[in-house]
Amino acid sequence: MNKIKMNTPLVEMDGDEMTRILWQMIKDELLLPYIDLKTEYYDLGLVKRNETNDQITIDSAKATMKYGVAVKCATITPNQARMGEYNLKEMWKSPNGTIRAALDGTVFRAPIIVKGIEPCVKNWKKPITLARHAYGDVYKNTEIKVPGAGKAELVFTDANGNETRETIHVFDGAGIIQGIHNTEKSITSFAKSCFNYALDTKQDLWFSTKDTISKKYDHTFKDIFQEIYDTEYKTKFEEAGITYFYTLIDDAVARVMKNEGGFIWACKNYDGDVMSDMVSSAFGSLAMMTSVLVSPSGVYEYEAAHGTVQRHYYKHLAGEETSTNSVATIFAWTGALRKRGEMDGIAELQAFADKLEQATIQTIESGKMTKDLALITSLENVTVLNSADFIKAIRETLDTLL
Ligand code: NAP
Ligand code: MG
Repeated sequence: MNKIKMNTPLVEMDGDEMTRILWQMIKDELLLPYIDLKTEYYDLGLVKRNETNDQITIDSAKATMKYGVAVKCATITPNQARMGEYNLKEMWKSPNGTIRAALDGTVFRAPIIVKGIEPCVKNWKKPITLARHAYGDVYKNTEIKVPGAGKAELVFTDANGNETRETIHVFDGAGIIQGIHNTEKSITSFAKSCFNYALDTKQDLWFSTKDTISKKYDHTFKDIFQEIYDTEYKTKFEEAGITYFYTLIDDAVARVMKNEGGFIWACKNYDGDVMSDMVSSAFGSLAMMTSVLVSPSGVYEYEAAHGTVQRHYYKHLAGEETSTNSVATIFAWTGALRKRGEMDGIAELQAFADKLEQATIQTIESGKMTKDLALITSLENVTVLNSADFIKAIRETLDTLL
């Protein structure tokens, strides 16, 4: 068989621990035998980040903006324990945070549905994609623990020194206060990323906030979305046969539970954090989630939604067998390859991505899976495979499909 040719490289961001091991296995077994793989390689493993004073992360983000599509392996976000383990010069920032800030994007997460891993909510037949705004609100808050009686005020001072004041509360005893913010620029990026992603995936878009209570803050989100929709996207949505609608978050929650899925639910930062954990748990497993960061300018970074699976890595280092699920990492590759194929007009690359996803799903549905799935499946007579054999089983299925 002739290998599929590529024109433009993918930005390849390697990572850490068990996912770094899976990364190499996926390339060797499922990609390199079939594709003349062109990538611009960035090693975001913690050793290299430390060596380059994290410049490698910044360079990989720049390359992503240049080429338009990246695929990222899970990486360690350093904490105190990692400082010692890796002898770090500094507690480097989360690479995901750095890349997100550079791309100014929104994170979309969707479950991978297979027969035999049923969602807890029995109405759900199709994936529900969560779009989470990744800037501001309670994640960049300022808080004061009020010690006793006094007046709390909200003060804004403009560039000329003019003040606007609102009383928050007159305390007659101890309490707490919190200040949060967002910017029109960031909300606009969020809205455009959501509208573009809905068009890309041909799915309806829902957006919800608590605007009935937060008449300025949340209402501004609602207004910005509506204005951008009306001026830039309404016609495109009509042509694609999809809809956008806004609803109060209480109403959205009730509708989500009763709906069959197949739509995108856009949420503010905190709502998106909580709701995506709820939706993904209800669909089964973090290792069965796709995750893509989309910038308003149309740049895409695909990754797995889980971490580096540290506990399995230590077992691997100790020479023990692991059964780590590689599905989310495989789907990060297929997402990136499909997008590259779309952008460069390479139909074979898109078809290959579809086939590899199909092979992965069929392998699980035939009863061959990793331990995490075996624990929750409704299928009988399953074969639990180790990390390497699961990938080899997918290759066998893939060969029958090609
Ligand atoms: P984790 O790597 O997601 O793993 C937590 C647990 O979830 C594992 O111990 C395992 O459970 C299960 N699990 C996760 N992915 C799995 C898979 N593919 N197959 C089978 N089981 C899986 O989270 P963590 O242990 O809290 O974090 C480890 C490192 O990852 C940290 O250094 C953190 O900074 C980093 N992290 C990176 C990202 C990212 O790059 N996107 C995201 C989150 C965390 P059992 O042990 O019970 O089998
Ligand atoms: Mg969370």
